[in-house]
Amino acid sequence: MLGEVAPPVRLPMSLAEFDIIRRYFTRRSGRADVPLGVGDDAAVLELAAGRRLVLAVDTMVEDVHFPAGLPAADIGYRVLAANLSDMAAMGAQPAWMTLSLSLPHAEESWLDGFAAGLFELADRYEVALVGGDTVRGPLVVSVQIAGWVEADRWLTRAGAQPGDALYMSGVPGEAAAGLALLREPRPEAEAEARALRERFLRPQPRVALGRMLRPLASAAMDISDGLLADLDKLCAASGCGAELDLDALPASAAMQALFAPQTCLDFALAGGEDFELLFTVPEQFEAALLAQAGTAPGCTRIGRMVEGAGVRCWQGGRRVEIAQRGYVHFAS
Ligand code: ADP
Ligand code: MG
Repeated sequence: MLGEVAPPVRLPMSLAEFDIIRRYFTRRSGRADVPLGVGDDAAVLELAAGRRLVLAVDTMVEDVHFPAGLPAADIGYRVLAANLSDMAAMGAQPAWMTLSLSLPHAEESWLDGFAAGLFELADRYEVALVGGDTVRGPLVVSVQIAGWVEADRWLTRAGAQPGDALYMSGVPGEAAAGLALLREPRPEAEAEARALRERFLRPQPRVALGRMLRPLASAAMDISDGLLADLDKLCAASGCGAELDLDALPASAAMQALFAPQTCLDFALAGGEDFELLFTVPEQFEAALLAQAGTAPGCTRIGRMVEGAGVRCWQGGRRVEIAQRGYVHFAS
């Protein structure tokens, strides 16, 4: 009878699995709200009264979300940065994460680098790694982040109203330009190229800005698929339209030094992975926003919300049609 039992579907990656977890992913978190972390069947966390749990997950696949051979430290940093950016977009405070790691082989130097990149950012934001899963397979890293937000208000994509001002943080397109430079190096302008690569490899999640916007913004999201595509989603969720002023978009001197004007515009409008915040602010809160913006990464007013649906672009006082709309998952 026993001989007929089907083999388990899921085998541990090797005897070294426990060693990997112990060596690289078991650390004192320093957080008082983790009664039980890595090592048991599940983690136990403490959520203070008056707060709501906020959850997000982000997966990165080699050759799809990052080029093969990208240093492990950059992979570790970016997968958490993408998750922190989702927390920022909700106005939430990140606190805990789990990590699912699928590895073709357990290589020490890779794991060293990955853990260094991951914990560099985790420590900066005081995010505790409380569990995960480690399996053998193609290189896929997935972080699930958990955080909290005050029960009375959090940010969504859905609250924008006609008349609200449209803002974004940072400079659109630089991450896409940096990725293009990783794929095709341009040695002639090394300082600019390095700055742009850094914007792809080390995005700065706008967590503090998201927290600041929680009482001020009517809608918010992070820019991961490209400014136009994501603004379209914000419009759809809010049931209104947007007018985007292309002349108001913050320009990148580094990008302009290396790419033709049309390419710069393509990067700015359709390049993904900026991990900046896109948000709308009702007129009565704009003064408060500007008063606090001194402590925030440069926020720029790039348009306004209007009646209707979809995004209309303006340049030099004229309507312009934009063909390319950003990164589309599963497009053929
Ligand atoms: P189970 O079989 O019960 O899922 P595992 O043997 O896979 O347990 O994992 C043992 C412990 O190590 C669990 O607490 C799990 O959350 C944790 N863990 C496994 N992989 C990772 C990882 N990559 N990072 C952090 N914790 C991990
Ligand atoms: Mg497991």
